[in-house]
Amino acid sequence: MIKFLDLYAINQTYKQELRDAFDRVLDSGWYIMGNELKQFEAEFASYCGVKHAIGVANGLDALILIIRAYKEMGLFKDGDEILVPSNTYIASILAISANGLVPVLVEPNIETYNLDANLIEEAITSRTVAILPVHLYGQLCDMDNINIIAKKHGLKIIEDCAQAHGAKLNTGQRGGNLGDAAGFSFYPGKNLGALGDAGAVTTNDDDLATAIRALLNYGSHVKYQNLYKGINSRLDELQAALLRVKLGRLDQDTEIRKDIANRYLSEIHNSRVILPEVENQDAHVWHLFVIRTDDRDAMQNYLLDRGIQTVIHYPIPPHRQVAYAELNHKSFPISEQIHNSVISLPISPVMNKTEVDAVIKAINEY
Ligand SMILES: *Cc1c(COP(=O)(O)O)cnc(C)c1O
Repeated sequence: MIKFLDLYAINQTYKQELRDAFDRVLDSGWYIMGNELKQFEAEFASYCGVKHAIGVANGLDALILIIRAYKEMGLFKDGDEILVPSNTYIASILAISANGLVPVLVEPNIETYNLDANLIEEAITSRTVAILPVHLYGQLCDMDNINIIAKKHGLKIIEDCAQAHGAKLNTGQRGGNLGDAAGFSFYPGKNLGALGDAGAVTTNDDDLATAIRALLNYGSHVKYQNLYKGINSRLDELQAALLRVKLGRLDQDTEIRKDIANRYLSEIHNSRVILPEVENQDAHVWHLFVIRTDDRDAMQNYLLDRGIQTVIHYPIPPHRQVAYAELNHKSFPISEQIHNSVISLPISPVMNKTEVDAVIKAINEY
C-alpha cells in the first residue's frame, strides 16, 4: 500500500533528534513558557523573515487570536466583514465567525485554486476590514495584486499560512511576511508538523504582537494582571522543542516534495486529468498535489485497487456545511466544481522513487 502520508515514516527520520529534544525538556523541569518556546519563536521568525513569531496552541487559534487582537486594538468590531476564499478549509472561516465578524466568500481562480484577485473589489463593502488569503495546497496567492487592493481600500491582510510553510516570492520574501499578520498550523500532517497540536502567528506589527501575547495567556500582560478576557492558547515547551528539530530540515523536506511534484507534472499524461498550475517554482511547497478529474470517485477507487491511497481536499464546500446554514442558499459554482472534482495524490518527504513511479504508471493507465 502506498500511503497518502506516512507520518510514522516521516517522524522516524528525525527519531534520535526528537528523543534528545524530549530528554532536554524532561530534564529541564520547565514545561510551559520557557527557553524552548523562546528559541523556537526566534528561529521561526528568522526563517519567515519577520520581526515576531508567537507560538500558540494550533492554527485555528492563530487566526482567531489575530482577529481578536485587532478587535481589542479597536480596528475591527462585531459585524465587520472579512473576505475569504470560498474553497478554503473550514478553519479560515471559523476564525472570522468565532470573533463575531462576518465571512464574505470570494471565488478562487480555477487554475490556481487560490483567491481570484479580480473578484475581490466587487465583494468589498463599507463594512469590509480585511482580506484573508489562504495559500491553499502550499501555493502562495497573488499577493502583489491583493496588497494593491488592500492598500487602496485600507484593509488588513491576514494570511492563512497553514499549508505553505517556507513558500517564497521571487523577491525571496516568504509566506508569513506578505501581509499584516499570518496564522500557521503545525498539525502533525502539515509540512512543518509537531507531534500533536501547535501553531504560530507571525507579524511585523509590535502592537499586534503585544496584544496577542497577552490574549493567548488569559489576557494577561503581567502575571496576575488581566488586560483582556483572554484564552489559554500556549504552545508548550515539548512541542516547541520538537518543532525546532523539524524546522532545521524543513527546506530539505520541501525540496523532496518539489522533486516529486515535478515528476508528476512532467510524467503524468492522461486527457482525463487536469494537473495543477504552477506560476513560480519557489512559491509552491506542495503540501498537497491536487489533480482534477471528471469522475473523481471512480478514479479514487481505481487507485485504491492499485494500492494507492488518496484523499479529497475537500469534499464539501464551506457554504454547504450544516454549521453555515446562513450561507447554504448561496451559489459558488467554481468552488463547487473544485470540490466535486479534486483528488490529492500521495506526496511526502519519505516517498521513494518506486512509489512515485507506481502512482504515475497507475494514472497514465487509467
Ligand atoms: C490545518 C489548517 C488550519 C487549522 O490548523 P489547526 O492547527 O488544525 O487548527 C487552518 N487553515 C488551513 C488552510 C489549514 O489547512
